Amino acid sequence: MRSQRTYLDWNATAPVLESVRDAMVEVLDEVPGNASSVHQHGQKARAVVERARRSIAAAVGAQPQGVVITGGATESNNQVLRHHVRTTDNPRIVSTAVEHPSVIEVVEQLDQQGVNTEIWPVDRRGRLDMQWLSRRLDDEVTLVSVMWANNETGNVHDIPGIVEQLHEAGALVHVDATQALGRIDIDFDEAGVDYMTLSFHKMGGPKGVGATVVREGLKVSALYAGGHQERGRRPGTENVVAVAGADAAAEAVVQRREQWSEMLREHRRAFVDALHQESSGLELRGDRDAQLPNTVNAAFEGVDGEDLLMALDLEGISASSGSACTAGSLEPSHVILAMGYDEADARRSVRFSFGPTTKREELVEAARRIAEVADRLRQMDAQWR
Ligand code: PMP
Repeated sequence: MRSQRTYLDWNATAPVLESVRDAMVEVLDEVPGNASSVHQHGQKARAVVERARRSIAAAVGAQPQGVVITGGATESNNQVLRHHVRTTDNPRIVSTAVEHPSVIEVVEQLDQQGVNTEIWPVDRRGRLDMQWLSRRLDDEVTLVSVMWANNETGNVHDIPGIVEQLHEAGALVHVDATQALGRIDIDFDEAGVDYMTLSFHKMGGPKGVGATVVREGLKVSALYAGGHQERGRRPGTENVVAVAGADAAAEAVVQRREQWSEMLREHRRAFVDALHQESSGLELRGDRDAQLPNTVNAAFEGVDGEDLLMALDLEGISASSGSACTAGSLEPSHVILAMGYDEADARRSVRFSFGPTTKREELVEAARRIAEVADRLRQMDAQWR
């Protein structure tokens, strides 16, 4: 195995930023208090949490009082959807066919409990069918859950345009911005979003900390009972160390997001050019006109995605597919299936995702090795036929 591994799975999780690690270590060493305690130890911990709230708000263009700090985007997505159903007469929820399981599976559960739900389809490139939406808008939809950017294809949805259309029809909009944070410009207030959910571990923060952002005038209730933290919206003693990490990550987004986006866009171009140059039978998936600057979803003709990922792992390259392991067998990605690919075709999809500390030369070299491995697997497969 090569000693220098190349990590191309940032959409699964990202390496922790140095500033994040430093902030967490400092709090771990020096802030032992409980943020709910009134004494000075408690006040210091409270200050960490409140600073993070302001940084998170600044990173997404929202107001600090609307930020509820949670244990990640899975929790936040559950919180928004379940709150809506609990507090709405005749809830009618639309979510897209390409949402993360932390939205899709909640919507499925709610549907089984009798809530009216519908799935908003996408086309072959993973673009949302806007005509479908226009037809549905007479139907008294109360909430639409739509991600800002997709974790598998990297597709970026036109959230300001969608929000405008939905607000005219009287629906609320929940946006899962987990993959968009730190990669593209997202502005909660400017886009007019009602609920936004975030996670910090995709862009250099620690795992297990996220946020639910709520528009002024709207409410979000706690998922469970047991405490008054986060003004009753997220009970449980705050994980002050992780929150300090989220603060540093959000601060990095404020300071470096533009520079990161530009650099990632150039890296992506170099990686895709090299892939095109070196590979045969390459197909890039998703909407090439609106994609995250750090994500490439690729398929190689005649090469199974899982076989490719395993061979790449041995070569020192970590990447992923959107496949889920259900009852011991690999299910192809629901996102690629929703785009109209059949199962065999969907199984060929492989996702490469990178971030600000990935080197351009590393990406170009990885593209060369990916093409080489894909060719080898294709030849082996042909020999076995
Ligand atoms: N939404 C999206 C779009 C994601 O990519 C992820 C992480 N894979 C999540 C939600 C879940 O986030 P977390 O890991 O913080 O629960």
